[in-house]
Amino acid sequence: REEEMTMKTYCKSAKLDNVCYDIRGPVLEEADKMIARGEKILKLNIGNPAPFHFNAPQEIINDMIYNLHDSEGYSDSRGIFSARKAIMQYCQLKGIKNVDINDIYTGNGVSELIVMCMQGLLNNGDEILVPAPDYPLWTASITLAGGNAVHYQCDEQSEWYPDINDIKKKITDKTKGIVIINPNNPTGALYPESVLKEIAEVARQNELILFADEIYDRLVMDGLKHTSIAALAPDIFCITLNGLSKSHRVAGFRSGWMVLSGPKEQVRGYIEGINMLSSMRLCSNVPSQQIIQTALGGYQSADELLLPGGRIYEQREYIYNALNDIPGISAVKPKAAFYIFPKIDTERFHITDDEKFVLDLLREKKILLVHGRGFNWMEPDHFRIVYLPNIDDLQLAMSKFRNFLQGYQQS
Ligand code: PLP
Repeated sequence: REEEMTMKTYCKSAKLDNVCYDIRGPVLEEADKMIARGEKILKLNIGNPAPFHFNAPQEIINDMIYNLHDSEGYSDSRGIFSARKAIMQYCQLKGIKNVDINDIYTGNGVSELIVMCMQGLLNNGDEILVPAPDYPLWTASITLAGGNAVHYQCDEQSEWYPDINDIKKKITDKTKGIVIINPNNPTGALYPESVLKEIAEVARQNELILFADEIYDRLVMDGLKHTSIAALAPDIFCITLNGLSKSHRVAGFRSGWMVLSGPKEQVRGYIEGINMLSSMRLCSNVPSQQIIQTALGGYQSADELLLPGGRIYEQREYIYNALNDIPGISAVKPKAAFYIFPKIDTERFHITDDEKFVLDLLREKKILLVHGRGFNWMEPDHFRIVYLPNIDDLQLAMSKFRNFLQGYQQS
């Protein structure tokens, strides 16, 4: 009798079938197993500043503690007034015009808002243009919402800027929007105004929505200036996303926001969808909203890390030079954020599987990177390094990496 009884089994939803988020995928699982066995892994895989002793400004922590008792209840689903007012003023500083307090939504990190933007817009088969390489949450969220992420190339030969002709070629009658990640994760590229204007023109001609992920806009080096595409395109409906995870080293607080700008006529229905989703999650974490005003109010605390002598700047100099000194590796110099996306000579090392390459390095040298295909880069010839560890650790990692490559041939 017992053998005849069938047990119910539960699989993941079919909605998740093609959803990939490899930054926290199989390679990390292997690393976690090694850690559980007591092995020490040097993690160059996740852009989380705090564990590398990039502490949040004390002012921010004080502010959160001070306001904790006023943060016990739910807030307005878009967010508290002081946070949205500060974001509104930040938009003014960045030249994003006509942003009203109700055009601003706070979120549990930019992550929640990316998912919300895609859930609110896409029907099955709708297309969104996304960069390759990308921050893979964009592709994953589009797929989860039933859409198709169509990847446009960013060109390593041109500082990893988006290839405008490729964007144009990939537009179809199903395309609803273009995502740009500027400054970029994983390449560290910062787009000049000329490139942004060209992208805006493509959106204008084809009546597309622009999604601008600008979470690294306050982490720019070399005296360069970040420009928001929304500031260059007041006539286009843009959603600009930003947050405090990186600039204020509070990734764990989950503090993000998005701003709707440009004409609303054609997108009224979409905004209703966003409002509904925003209400359904009630509100974002209120203590994290409380710090936004202080964070954006004048003291731009990352600046000293980004100038010569500052940690991020010096670590960038080190990693860029060290990688380019290794035979078979080349890398474009990042201008912003804290990532570098080097190219590896696949012929020289007979590499056909970049995930295996990263796993081999992990097992042999206990260094954890993410393979390029984790960022929807289709060739097995890139990987991403997070250069947040201090120079001593980066030096150790690079000497082990050089040593690993000396004998490496993928079978
Ligand atoms: N967008 C990009 C480009 C990122 O790199 C990240 C995190 O690494 C996020 C969004 C998510 O950030 P948050 O911590 O605000 O959810």
